[in-house]
Amino acid sequence: MRPWHNIYKFSLVKKFMYLIYHFISCIILALILFPFYSYYSLLIFIFGFFIDFDHYFYDILRNKELNLINSYKKHMNKELIRKDQLHIFHTLEFIISFLLLTLSSENIYLLLLSMGLTLHLILDFIYEIYVVVIRKEEQKQTRTWSLTLWIIKN
Ligand SMILES: [Zn+2]
Repeated sequence: MRPWHNIYKFSLVKKFMYLIYHFISCIILALILFPFYSYYSLLIFIFGFFIDFDHYFYDILRNKELNLINSYKKHMNKELIRKDQLHIFHTLEFIISFLLLTLSSENIYLLLLSMGLTLHLILDFIYEIYVVVIRKEEQKQTRTWSLTLWIIKN
């Protein structure tokens, strides 16, 4: 029997930790909002959790990778060099347009979607700060922050 930390090190649990943080934060926010918005609070999950499907869309288009698990593994592989990836829902253009649409429409569904989006982006930002500033890891996989810039470059 291997010690627990060795099992953990190579297990799927560790590989999925990144998703688990997003998932748990969505559950917490949905619970907080539940008294106000009832089951509509579950809309938090669309951009709070499933937004990362844009990594998969990019893999389908760019690398013809249709296998979702393989795509996820590659994204979590810290040795793989993949610069300037286009994760469409993480670009400034998408974020600003969506938030502006929400503010101008005052639509309750859009508001919940935007709350999920904001939560997700804050967590992504914290994670990036943690990796770059605290752990000082070199980022072998990066993504573009601007759709316009990406189109010009590619
Ligand atoms: Zn993300």
